[in-house]
Amino acid sequence: MHIVIIGAGIIGCGIARELSKYENLRITVVEKEADASFGTSKANTGLIHACYDDDPNKYPLRAELCPKGNRMWRNWIEELDIPASFPGSLVVAKNEEEMKILEELKKRGERNGVPSLKIVHEKELRNLEENLNEEIIAALYAPTAGKVSPYEATFALMENAIENGASFIFRREVRGIRVKKGEVKGVRLSDGSELQADVVINASGIHADEISKMIGINHFQIKPRKGEYMIFDKDSYPKVSRILFPTPTPKSKGVVVTTTVDGNLMLGPNAQDVEDKEDLGNTKEGLDFAWENAQKIVRRLPPKNMVIRTFSGLRAEPPHGDFIIEGYEEPWGFINVAGIRSPGLTSAPAIAEKVEKIIREVGVRLERKKKWNPIREGIKKIAKMGDEEREKEIKKNPPYGKIVCMCEMVSEYEILEAIRRGATTLDGVKLRTRAMMGRCQGNFCRIRIARILSRELGIPLWKVQLKGEGSEIGVGDIKTILRRESK
Ligand SMILES: Cc1cc2nc3c(=O)[nH]c(=O)nc-3n(C[C@H](O)[C@H](O)[C@H](O)COP(=O)(O)OP(=O)(O)OC[C@H]3O[C@@H](n4cnc5c(N)ncnc54)[C@H](O)[C@@H]3O)c2cc1C
Repeated sequence: MHIVIIGAGIIGCGIARELSKYENLRITVVEKEADASFGTSKANTGLIHACYDDDPNKYPLRAELCPKGNRMWRNWIEELDIPASFPGSLVVAKNEEEMKILEELKKRGERNGVPSLKIVHEKELRNLEENLNEEIIAALYAPTAGKVSPYEATFALMENAIENGASFIFRREVRGIRVKKGEVKGVRLSDGSELQADVVINASGIHADEISKMIGINHFQIKPRKGEYMIFDKDSYPKVSRILFPTPTPKSKGVVVTTTVDGNLMLGPNAQDVEDKEDLGNTKEGLDFAWENAQKIVRRLPPKNMVIRTFSGLRAEPPHGDFIIEGYEEPWGFINVAGIRSPGLTSAPAIAEKVEKIIREVGVRLERKKKWNPIREGIKKIAKMGDEEREKEIKKNPPYGKIVCMCEMVSEYEILEAIRRGATTLDGVKLRTRAMMGRCQGNFCRIRIARILSRELGIPLWKVQLKGEGSEIGVGDIKTILRRESK
């Protein structure tokens, strides 16, 4: 049986890995971008929420899948070598009114099965986070909250799914779905070809309503809700040790102050409804909002000129706020995994398991593989090695000794390894290795990495792309390239 998954975000890759456990399934993931994780899965806060703010009366799926996902992430992290930590989160309150919301969150969290929730005050609170704003009087402490690198997680799931037999097709957009006699038969791709399919799983993020409409299921619309962020240089202080939230509003969990798994202070996001599903631009209003709201949580922020990057992501907002995960009698073989807004990253393992259950429920018998390998190893980073290990690795693989990105200390070996694992663009290398993610944001090493990509992919330098078709570096950097090539 051929399963086609549309979308290589955390959801599509998670489902592909889950279904790769079965002998009688052939799995193909189709992605319109040049790589996995190039949609919302690369641009979010990267938090594994504790899951106290998903009201089970209003959002039953979120309330079920979020805490389950939080527990299941521990296995994903271990088996797939995903950078992560679980420092816990604090939702802070400044007055009696906000205190009441903390009590409500605590009760709701306990109803959702979130363990060890506690309201903390004064000394206990300041011990948990010394950089809190003086006006804060209490917080809801959730020790099970954590953080991951969302793009590394997505790549890890993809690599492990491939290891277990799944295929990925990039740079092809699904343009239509063929249905015959009430059953799904295939998907039509942007290059004019058709891919035969018995089951189609729609995991296409903000475009899920458009895909669903292709087969006449149009009871929902997905609206993009933008969130903007500021990232600080690793050397900027003060940082925070817990994940800090304000008291939430019905629209959003609010601006978070956190230190990413890679050690950068990060502020954001805001929540701005936009019309355009491609609108990823940063705005002064959005960034000012993030800055001003972060100041209400922490006592001190690093100087603004220590910001090295701003970015934004688009939440896929479903009409009633809850995930839409359903299979259909008519047409048989179509499954929607739509409206996966926050906490979609946290829920991803539980969503993958739920999709597997739906496949069984629609009558597909699943035969477990005898040899399924749950283990994937990440790219070994020279920056994280001790002296002895470094020396050993350089002897074994000399390109480890050639540092290409000085800010993040990324070697040529890691870049070659990223390409071997599927990177075909500068962003693909960046998200897999952290090259170009440091203080200079690639000003020094971008051209060196482009030259490695050009050599390894066998394409002229000017054709190396930032993130896909139309982003060839030659368009913007022609003088630099000509100067270097003439040497
Ligand atoms: C600002 C912000 C902050 C967030 N913070 C958190 C958080 O801290 N914790 C948490 O749990 N969740 C968080 N989320 C939610 C989380 O990021 C998402 O739920 C998750 O990334 C959704 O993954 P996805 O795979 O459904 O979507 P995506 O990653 O967008 O993947 C969908 C893929 O489908 C592809 N696609 C679309 N149409 C087609 C087509 N026609 N043909 C082929 N491919 C197609 C797209 O290119 C894309 O790559 C946040 C979201 C945002 C925006």
